[in-house]
Amino acid sequence: MTEAAALSVHAARKAFGGLVAVNDVSFEVRPGALLGLIGPNGSGKTTMLNLISGALKPTAGAIELGGERISDLPAHRIAQRGVARTFQLVRMLPALDAEENVMAGAVFGHTRLWGEDARKRARDLLDRVGLRGRAHVPVGAFTYIDQKRVELARALASDPRVLLLDEWLAGLNPSELKIGIALIDELRREGRTIIMVEHVMDAIRELCDRCVVMSGGQKIAEGGVAETLSDPEVVRAYLGD
Ligand code: ADP
Repeated sequence: MTEAAALSVHAARKAFGGLVAVNDVSFEVRPGALLGLIGPNGSGKTTMLNLISGALKPTAGAIELGGERISDLPAHRIAQRGVARTFQLVRMLPALDAEENVMAGAVFGHTRLWGEDARKRARDLLDRVGLRGRAHVPVGAFTYIDQKRVELARALASDPRVLLLDEWLAGLNPSELKIGIALIDELRREGRTIIMVEHVMDAIRELCDRCVVMSGGQKIAEGGVAETLSDPEVVRAYLGD
């Protein structure tokens, strides 16, 4: 099984002083799968994404991308190997336009495109996420959902081997949510490997093949979405939220 995994997390642990935010968590994501990483607030989900992307180093354990250990590498090397992410609070360069922000993803990520190649990829992706004709608008002038679209395009610009979405759907209104789910569904259909941290349970049910549930830093359940969400321990963890 391990050879076939796109990404595998082996007994990852992260302590902040005395607080163990991620406590010996292991799981795998198969190529082309969309894994939901869920759990109540403070359960360690964002910390887990930070460990995968290299923003934080694990206190113990290891993370492998396509069977190669990445957890010793600095974040920019992990990005170059093919891990891209979006952030819970959109992080972009507001004074730069949409195209420039997306080009940054192409230049610094897995594909390392430059110049016109990066520009062309940025244009194609902006069209794809629904921002045709808006390449030269400064990102700071965009609405929240449009900033999210730019951020998704930026993450895709590097053609990542694994895409991490940190509550990408949070804060969208119901009609925006439909658009957002459809966009992620399209990525799933084209065979992207994705880990999504998400509180919108309808989206988890609709999109994910499997899910991993965290609570208090530990993995408390894992499996198909319907069975996992009805697991009594998972229900208890959420009720205590
Ligand atoms: P989630 O994403 O599931 O809401 P987090 O990973 O953000 O959970 O947080 C897990 C726990 O780790 C929380 O108790 C949080 O306060 C703590 N934590 C997260 N980041 C840090 C940090 N940089 N320093 C200290 N504690 C942190």
